[in-house]
Amino acid sequence: MIREQTLRARQKLVSKLPVSGELLRGSLLERTVRHSKDCPKCARGEGHHVFVLTVTYPGGRTRQFSVRRERVDEVRRSLANYQKLKEAIEAICELNHDLLRPDAAAKRRSKKT
Ligand SMILES: [Zn+2]
Repeated sequence: MIREQTLRARQKLVSKLPVSGELLRGSLLERTVRHSKDCPKCARGEGHHVFVLTVTYPGGRTRQFSVRRERVDEVRRSLANYQKLKEAIEAICELNHDLLRPDAAAKRRSKKT
């Protein structure tokens, strides 16, 4: 029965949900900051590489957080965890769409009545 298979597939996804507290939404961008004066590094044309986490909210508002270099790996991991969890949730929702459809048995029952 299709419904049973869908429920089993859903249970499998639920039991494997990649739940973690290490979650971040957004994009990690690398930027170069250039000071206009009094900085020898920038005077040499090097600039400073900085990491920024950009988060967009519904309605288009964004927030930016500067990320220290030593926390970049952690931020990348958290962003990946968020994507994995989101994909798993989306897959469960897709199965639930199938479960909303009246199944064949229910159709047969409704024809009889
Ligand atoms: Zn500088």
